[in-house]
Amino acid sequence: MTKYIFVTGGVVSSLGKGLTSAAVGWILERQGFTVSMQKLDPYINVDPGTMSPFQHGEVYVTDDGTEADLDLGHYERFTHAKITADSNYTTGKIYRSVIQKERRGDYLGHTVQVIPHITDEIKTAVRRGASAGVDIAITEIGGTVGDIESLPFLEAIRQFALEVGPHDCLFIHLTLLPFLRASGEMKTKPTQQSVGKLREIGIQPHILVCRTEKPMSEEMAEKISLFCNVRKEAVIEERDVEFSIYEVPLNLIREGFDRRVLDCLDLEPRKEVQVDDWQQLLSTLKNPQHEVEIAVVGKYIELHDAYKSIYEALHHGGIAKSCKVKLRKVSAERVASEGTDKVLTGVDGILVPGGFGERGFEGKILTIKHARENKIPFLGICYGMQAAVVDFARNVLGIDEATTSEYAPDASEQVINLMEEQKTVSDLGGTMRLGAFDCSLTAGSKSAAAYGSPKVSERHRHRFELNNAYRSRLQEAGMLMAGVNEQLDLVEIVEVPDHPWFVGVQFHPEFKTRPMEPHPLFRDFIGAAISEKT
Ligand code: GLN
Repeated sequence: MTKYIFVTGGVVSSLGKGLTSAAVGWILERQGFTVSMQKLDPYINVDPGTMSPFQHGEVYVTDDGTEADLDLGHYERFTHAKITADSNYTTGKIYRSVIQKERRGDYLGHTVQVIPHITDEIKTAVRRGASAGVDIAITEIGGTVGDIESLPFLEAIRQFALEVGPHDCLFIHLTLLPFLRASGEMKTKPTQQSVGKLREIGIQPHILVCRTEKPMSEEMAEKISLFCNVRKEAVIEERDVEFSIYEVPLNLIREGFDRRVLDCLDLEPRKEVQVDDWQQLLSTLKNPQHEVEIAVVGKYIELHDAYKSIYEALHHGGIAKSCKVKLRKVSAERVASEGTDKVLTGVDGILVPGGFGERGFEGKILTIKHARENKIPFLGICYGMQAAVVDFARNVLGIDEATTSEYAPDASEQVINLMEEQKTVSDLGGTMRLGAFDCSLTAGSKSAAAYGSPKVSERHRHRFELNNAYRSRLQEAGMLMAGVNEQLDLVEIVEVPDHPWFVGVQFHPEFKTRPMEPHPLFRDFIGAAISEKT
């Protein structure tokens, strides 16, 4: 029988609730349990697919083509939970389903209300998220306790706990102990108030995870315990990590968190937790043999969350090569205004990530030309790959007008144009080419060497493609079509063979990497950056 863990957050947002939830999953898997992971988001968009990265950070994509919250990336990087459309529900998705039922007449005769109809739908979503037969289903509630829009979710999980029984449901509340520099002390009041808010709704947290900058004293834990009605041993410190998010699960274990979770769920560990491999990983991160600096040239560079999976994937590539990866975050517009020499000098590799629209596109093309001509290892992802094709068409093939039809629909030389299947699409939400597609690799290419397999599956999120009308001209000029989707006849990977390592991919390899299983393309990209440096 599945047991359930709900993770809520209080005081402020951005406490690392997704990371902590992922760490809970990691710990439970290491104890021999199977887990599922789910995020409930209180906003009204059906999914984050139509939101700007400035609003929401990166849009994560799953194998089944769901556009989802970036916390799902943490879940996949830390655990082996199966992540699907059922792993992320928003208020919009819940309401859409209820309204569809109402229109069908499923509630005939009734007034449709938040309680019970919306809360029932949320409870159904929680059960769906618990993929078949897992031992423990972990559900993170987005937002901060006290927000108006979180209320139906909190009410639903309160009801849920009542239905499943005391030892089958655990509430973990993540909170902040702010340190006031002026008085030199940490404060418990915000934690007391946010737990108070939860208790008003009828939820008594079993475990409090307290984010702190400084160590939490015994007296402080006692005070929190007393005021929040949580046993002292269940008041857990989660101090800011020193250098890597991969420290979080080990730090929580050190605080006895693993035992508390099992106690509350009335479970015994199925096996002794082994952490040697993880410790090894952390020691590689701490004492790397090499160091490279990689420029990430994009449009949303001010916001770390906008390229979260890309940055993680680069670090994973670094772990595989015992290499510290320093990031140089460069605005594509700055490249256009200040020139490549000024902003890209000295980097060992260049990555151009995915993106949309006109802003920054010319800067990306200049960046790619610089990487190609100066033989700097290059990885282009999605829009970055499309920009690489535009650069090659303009600067090698000599098609000066070459561009993408994404923002120039009347251009004469559309080397990147709308996919056939996209031409009839009118709604923008959830209608891109999304999710996992096969890609057959060309023998002898850098990509085939990286993957070590002739056929791979990767995740997509785009509307435009390399225009097949230009394929043979690009090839004749020296561009290698290193990967294709045979069914749809789409080019998925381009390479420039006369270069140490120049790879552009139409898909998003950054969504399929784990610290222990780094993505082959990121691994080899970092490898090339190391070789070219020395
Ligand atoms: N804007 C491009 C397209 O839609 C690329 C999308 C992306 O980089 N994710 O095809």
